[in-house]
Amino acid sequence: MEFTTLTANTCSWFNLRRLLTFLQLFIDREFTESSSGRTRNIEYPATRETHIVAAEADSNDAKRAIASARKEFDSGAWRETTVSQRGDILRRVAQRLLKDKDTIARLETLDTGKTYAECEMDVDDVASVFSYYADQATATVGRVIDPAIVGISSRTVTEPVGVCVLITPWNYPLLQASWKVAPALLAGNTIILKPSELTPSTTHYLVKVLIEEGVEPAAVQLLLGSGADIGPTLTESPDVDMVSFTGGLETGRTIMKSAAGTVKRVALELGGKNPNVIFADADLPAAIDNALTAVFLDSGQVCSAGARLVVEESIRDDVVSELVRRAQKIRVGDPFDSATETGSLISAEHRDKVHAYVTHAIDQGAQLLCGGEIPEGDLADGYFYPPTILDHCDRTMDCVHDESFGPVLTVETFSGDTDAEREANALAIANDTIYGLAGAVWTSDASRAERVARQLRHGTVWINDYHPYVPHAEWGGMKQSGNGRELGPTGLAEYLEIKHIWHNTQPAPAGWFAESSNQ
Ligand code: NAP
Repeated sequence: MEFTTLTANTCSWFNLRRLLTFLQLFIDREFTESSSGRTRNIEYPATRETHIVAAEADSNDAKRAIASARKEFDSGAWRETTVSQRGDILRRVAQRLLKDKDTIARLETLDTGKTYAECEMDVDDVASVFSYYADQATATVGRVIDPAIVGISSRTVTEPVGVCVLITPWNYPLLQASWKVAPALLAGNTIILKPSELTPSTTHYLVKVLIEEGVEPAAVQLLLGSGADIGPTLTESPDVDMVSFTGGLETGRTIMKSAAGTVKRVALELGGKNPNVIFADADLPAAIDNALTAVFLDSGQVCSAGARLVVEESIRDDVVSELVRRAQKIRVGDPFDSATETGSLISAEHRDKVHAYVTHAIDQGAQLLCGGEIPEGDLADGYFYPPTILDHCDRTMDCVHDESFGPVLTVETFSGDTDAEREANALAIANDTIYGLAGAVWTSDASRAERVARQLRHGTVWINDYHPYVPHAEWGGMKQSGNGRELGPTGLAEYLEIKHIWHNTQPAPAGWFAESSNQ
């Protein structure tokens, strides 16, 4: 691992403090402090310095936000706007985000400790999500049905679901928000946004942009603060129609249970433990290079991170030794330094969790090839962790079946006497997980690529690639990685009800119950 140094110069964007000293909630059309007056310091994970203070909502604030969102949905102006008007607003939001890219990327870096370069790319992605849904304004139409009965017209129409609570995680704060906010608003819903307590700044910024670009203010509420504290008020409320949640499996289970009392719609985008399968006939330079990005991008804090390398035994030594050589060269350090390739982890608690997975894996028999130690020296003030590779892993190890969510690659191998046997063994390993979010297969045999891709039980499968996505294609998990789909037309359908309207233009008595009865 190579370190870059945190310098006063590269941290000068701490001056943002002067612009955005305090983040308020947005409830019932106005920015406001929390009813309790409580606040939370938001840390820059690369130095542990507080860079912003945020209001901390409690259940009273949550109730006020629900009441305002409900009133706006039931009798307000937002759902009466036309879908093309809402699409036009989304397009303006996309343009504004691109215009403000530098500020937004810096805020995201300060909240997350992710590199500025990556955060800049995230803003581009966020803008393209808003543009994509702006283009979908005509996709919300229903259809005419011909029941072939004289005097009957029958059609389906789409309508917004209602009050939608949108809960997001800390790893891609603005991107995950955009996947929910853009389709939910296009569909005409009112929304209550709840970002992670650790990373509120860019969601706060987005709310300001939404209002300034024309979204009806009461259609958007923003709650900052602890999910454990305000979550139940939001998810149990009979006045909330839908919860869309992105985050960890345990929180997803809690939300599903608490939403069950009111049978509200629940969309869950949860974790992953994603296999990256390399066959011996793959283009190895490309496979190895992408295997590094697959797992070490954003220090492994990516739901789709390719954290499980599943490699054919005959090429294992070559692949693993090259991965170790390259991993040791990854420049970890100051997120604002353009030479840095990956930043810090999000928090002390999270780094301790990642490190515990590594030490436990070693206890369970894994061989540590690189990384695995908390850095000292220049980086000791931040929550940095080095790219780590563990060889000789198997599926009994916690580090292999749990989501460590850090820069940790586990290596498993497959073999067999025939091609078919090797393929079956690779699939058995890759599918042996409770998760099913994403995975990849590397091979130069196009038929095998297709066969394996179809048999991997994961919501996204890359063939000879890793990580790209487009807003046009659905994203989501199989098995315990979730139950919904974001992006694409299905990502919009999540926020729409379908109503069937039957219109009898020649009403007549049904004649089922006779008028003359015995009584
Ligand atoms: P998390 O701890 O589950 O938190 C996610 C969000 O839920 C946060 O806003 C959190 O608030 C809130 N929350 C916590 N308890 C709640 C409750 N009882 N009711 C309602 N909301 C509650 O997840 P995380 O650590 O932020 O994010 C990492 C996880 O997200 C990983 O598992 C990753 O794989 C997953 N993820 C999945 C995708 C995907 O597309 N499938 C994308 C990105 C991330 P606080 O911040 O206050 O705790």
